[in-house]
Amino acid sequence: MASPQLSVIIPVHNESANIAPLCERLLPILSRITSVWEVIFIDDGSRDDTLDKIKEIRRAEPRIGAVSFSRNFGKEIAIAAGLDHAQGEAVVIMDADLQHPPEMIETFVERWRDGYLMVYGQRTDRSDETRVKRGFAHLFYQLFSRFGEIGLPEGAGDFRLIDRKGVEVLRTLGEKARFSKGLYAWIGFKATGVPFVVEERQFGNSKWSFRTLFRFAFDGIAAFSTVPLRIWTYIGFLISILSIATAVFFVIRTLLFGTDLPGFPSLIVSIMFFSGIQLMSLGVVGEYVGRIFAEVKRRPLYVVAERIGGAAEVSSDLV
Ligand code: UDP
Ligand code: MG
Repeated sequence: MASPQLSVIIPVHNESANIAPLCERLLPILSRITSVWEVIFIDDGSRDDTLDKIKEIRRAEPRIGAVSFSRNFGKEIAIAAGLDHAQGEAVVIMDADLQHPPEMIETFVERWRDGYLMVYGQRTDRSDETRVKRGFAHLFYQLFSRFGEIGLPEGAGDFRLIDRKGVEVLRTLGEKARFSKGLYAWIGFKATGVPFVVEERQFGNSKWSFRTLFRFAFDGIAAFSTVPLRIWTYIGFLISILSIATAVFFVIRTLLFGTDLPGFPSLIVSIMFFSGIQLMSLGVVGEYVGRIFAEVKRRPLYVVAERIGGAAEVSSDLV
């Protein structure tokens, strides 16, 4: 069998209700583009019957396969696994909840044939999200473009097409605290954006809470910038200058007006203030040390429990 021209990788975590509607809409579109395509679901430790739903559809359509993790490893890692297993000349990454309209893939492929090695969907409005969330998203892009070593196109997410060349480079980046959006930008290559409107989630709930999003944002900044580390040098420097100035002030005051004992409140306040700053800076250093620790352990990114279909196909898979 010829190796597929187009691979679609879809991370899924408890998406049972979305699998059938997604396939119904996606598969005809893929067949319009080429006959040699494959769809790989990465089952990211689903606890519902997501995997059974995929197997069911696979019975009628063997071009669908799955990689099933032994537990939940997170979407970023699921994408990495998808890139490892995809064999297509072009690889499309998309969500399972139909928020990424499959029709866009046709446009992606057109642009790819025009010579772009990376074609990303760029969401045009975020009106479905709360003001606060949008505000934070904007702040994140601002911070990132200011302090990160690379620029991120605003509104570009994981919904994109990547040429085989880009996929091979991404596969060599084995970092654990993965921030895909940053990695896509880091590898470079000729890229272009295609605007699209994010649709409503079909079934189930979003798996992201405010806390996980915040974590994700920090991961992103920490993976591409050392500014949070360096900033403490400047703050420390400023505080030293300030304390020298204060010392001089007190010496002169004592020489001119003699000495008096009051001043405990200001003493306590400054002790608390500076210990706070020290703890905070230690915390940031700790975040980076923690990341170094995670990397040097050299654990594999993910553990596959079951592989369904694909190159290493075993006949017993086809039950
Ligand atoms: N997802 C995953 N592992 C996770 C969380 C999410 O594979 O730990 C998948 C999920 O099934 C979906 C995609 O990532 O296909 C996007 O997730 P979600 O819709 O919850 O995120 P949002 O659209 O709210 O950003
Ligand atoms: Mg979603």
